[in-house]
Amino acid sequence: MAGKTFFIDTTVCTACRGCQSACKQWNQNPVAPTRQQGTYQNPPDLAAGTFKLVRFSEAGMAAGGPPRWYFFPDQCRHCLYPPCKMTADKKAKGAARIDSRTRAIVFDPTVKLTPTDFEAIRQSCPYDIPRYDTRSGGMTKCTMCIDRLGEGLQPACVKTCPTGAMNFGERDELLKLAETRLQAVKINHPGAALINADEVRVIFLVTDDPAKYHRFAAGGNNPKSAVGR
Ligand code: SF4
Ligand code: SF4
Repeated sequence: MAGKTFFIDTTVCTACRGCQSACKQWNQNPVAPTRQQGTYQNPPDLAAGTFKLVRFSEAGMAAGGPPRWYFFPDQCRHCLYPPCKMTADKKAKGAARIDSRTRAIVFDPTVKLTPTDFEAIRQSCPYDIPRYDTRSGGMTKCTMCIDRLGEGLQPACVKTCPTGAMNFGERDELLKLAETRLQAVKINHPGAALINADEVRVIFLVTDDPAKYHRFAAGGNNPKSAVGR
């Protein structure tokens, strides 16, 4: 069960979006027209061609206090026991698999899904990650860059990050790194925590309520998904 793991330290993320751009470039995903949504988050959500998105949230203004930014480089968590795969196995064999070497959860976008079956898979994901690719009729998300890993390279998002927010490696080592950083950050932020470290391969360190970063940061019900959104 060891496999690989990411540790994402949001305390040093500056929201430069280098990871987001590197992901799009490496995967040769197309850009899409977008518009200002009232924050610097752009595009507004994950999509069939956007596997990685730095989410921006602002808090404090409504209470009259100084604003605070929450940056959250969102992506598939590569769950240890992935509900998406459990649902996909019942709907379309081969649409999702576990990579034997890295334990990455990998979607096959060439396996076609009906909109209803895709909807069931998306709603089973606690983090609202899968997206429907209208071009192929399959679903997409972060691949853990297993093509790069096979060549001895780091994931593109990790390689690009200039601040050390994105970290990747053997699970045992990354768990130790995450725990070390948590203890250091707790000195000034007693509420700091690692999100669902026992359940996922993408572990976020946050200093505040995960819901302030993103609605699905710590998982949750997913009642509003819609095909092609
Ligand atoms: S985060 Fe969602 S899409 Fe990714 S492995 Fe977990 S259930 Fe599947
Ligand atoms: S591991 Fe690769 S596919 Fe996944 S978010 Fe990073 S760059 Fe994108």
